[in-house]
Amino acid sequence: ALECRDLRAGFGEHTVLRGVTLSVPSGGVTAVMGPSGCGKSTLLRCFNRMNDHLPGFFHQGEVRALGRDVYDPSWPVDSLRFAVGMVFQKPNPFPMSIADNVLFGPRLLGIRQRQELSEILESSLRAAHLWDEVKDALHASALKLSGGQQQRLCIARALACKPQVLLLDEPSSALDPIATARLEETVLDLASRITVLWVTHDLQQAARVSQHVAFLYMGELVEEGPTAEVFANPRNELTERYLTGRF
Ligand code: ATP
Ligand code: MG
Repeated sequence: ALECRDLRAGFGEHTVLRGVTLSVPSGGVTAVMGPSGCGKSTLLRCFNRMNDHLPGFFHQGEVRALGRDVYDPSWPVDSLRFAVGMVFQKPNPFPMSIADNVLFGPRLLGIRQRQELSEILESSLRAAHLWDEVKDALHASALKLSGGQQQRLCIARALACKPQVLLLDEPSSALDPIATARLEETVLDLASRITVLWVTHDLQQAARVSQHVAFLYMGELVEEGPTAEVFANPRNELTERYLTGRF
């Protein structure tokens, strides 16, 4: 679903990704791991061009999503971001109602019909496992939700644009264990239909949620493979040290 080849990228004088070649299989969850500062967020943002507006950003090499070059001039960046949605570390609902958050993307897409909007609202909130909790308060401010609910709302907001890929950048690091468990359950449900690329620091979480894992170290991809295999039998010394906490 996602691919990059010889991807070098960074900011100004600072090269962050030093020739990363990665192929993310379609469907399921691929975890991206590695020490702080190794370039995980930068890599994730390359797949939906979220770095482009950052000062000094440069990149070389190929980045493809859903079989297409993300810089294909016939692929508007908005459409790319609808197809490749993203959820960040800190829940960031817009300061508007729950319904307006979810319907933000569909309205940008030009959908105006009430019936269609209300179907999108309900199906997105259901898929994000949030419907039962908010169905009687759809017009309440999203900012009144708990952190875990806000994060599931951010997932619903992404899903409303019918993405084929979701990029998750440490989506549970601001959540307590119960909210984290609910988020994991939600994403695992989704991952039967869409591809998820999930940055996490948490080894147990990666083991629980992912089928495939990629390790970055100082901007290089040092190891990737099926999660169970890599965890049981890391081939790279850096991966092994990371997995055993000797970093
Ligand atoms: P963490 O686990 O702490 O989130 P990370 O692996 O996600 O780290 P990145 O955020 O991709 O790492 O950062 C990699 C490097 O790129 C860091 O040295 C960081 O300072 C630098 N960097 C990231 N974003 C920018 C930016 N907007 N401008 C300049 N440098 C940046
Ligand atoms: Mg990061």
